[in-house]
Amino acid sequence: MKQDNLLEVKNLTTRFKLDDGILTAVDGISFEVGRNQTVGIVGESGCGKSVTSFSILQLVAPPGKVAEGEIIFDGQDLLKLSKKEMRKIRGKKISMIFQEPMTSLNPVYTIGNQIDEMTKLHLGLDKQAAKEHTIELLRAVKIPSPEQRYHEYPHQLSGGMRQRVMIAMALACNPEMLICDEPTTALDVTVQAQILRLIDELKQKNNMSVMIITHDLAVISEVADKVIVMYAGRIVEESDEKDIFTKPLHPYTEALLKSIPSNAQRGEKLFMIDGMVPNLLKENKGCMFAPRCQYAQPHCFETEPELKTVGDGRKVRCHLRGEGEE
Ligand code: SF4
Repeated sequence: MKQDNLLEVKNLTTRFKLDDGILTAVDGISFEVGRNQTVGIVGESGCGKSVTSFSILQLVAPPGKVAEGEIIFDGQDLLKLSKKEMRKIRGKKISMIFQEPMTSLNPVYTIGNQIDEMTKLHLGLDKQAAKEHTIELLRAVKIPSPEQRYHEYPHQLSGGMRQRVMIAMALACNPEMLICDEPTTALDVTVQAQILRLIDELKQKNNMSVMIITHDLAVISEVADKVIVMYAGRIVEESDEKDIFTKPLHPYTEALLKSIPSNAQRGEKLFMIDGMVPNLLKENKGCMFAPRCQYAQPHCFETEPELKTVGDGRKVRCHLRGEGEE
């Protein structure tokens, strides 16, 4: 069945004009996020995943700029909107949560005050209605004693509770899409699992689409309906099948899976991907992953592979994989 798409990213290219040259952080990527679908975008730091989310929200700061492409959200190209129109979309229709809530929460205002401000601004609620709505949101993200927490400051909460506050804030205006950038990286494993479960529950309840950006494939293995693996600004693998976690098609996905601590055998040294991500300021020839790939062939260093659809609709960018392959 064809998925009803909420977001369609087409040929998105984002560049940074730096003193030593032009850096193409996102290089012609295309993907869709369906309604009520969770899409995980995975890759090491510098692969372009965060720049992708900032590009969608038009939060790329100079010297960066979306150079090409279309970002169709609910039938509307976000790149054609004015700054004022885009401000209405951000927070109201698309919300974002970040890795470290302390940098997004204002330490001098109470939690209640910060969420109230959002709903007063975007939903036009009065003081009493905003307070009631905020307490409901704190309850929805399972913060104990929400009436009391409403009056507390960010430093009075644990890291996990602060991340719940960020989620409550992101949900304040009932967005259609939630973008989570490394939402659990700063948290311990048990709290990570609770936060991911909560995001998943809220997605079902609120009928939202979710995009989770992470360097850790394990984070999204339970919740993602579709996984996009990025490397050097490009999509190297895309699959809406769970078998990406057991039968990866791209050598980079395979390496990412091997580097998950729980996948290492007891007593075995943790796998590390050798080498570094390529310098995107330099002109790179051939497959971007070739210098780090254990399967690289001579022609991998000469010709860049295309992103091909193989087998059951999975997409992969590797010379080893042929179109129509099962
Ligand atoms: Fe490795 Fe070659 Fe495939 Fe690139 S194209 S991932 S170098 S096998």
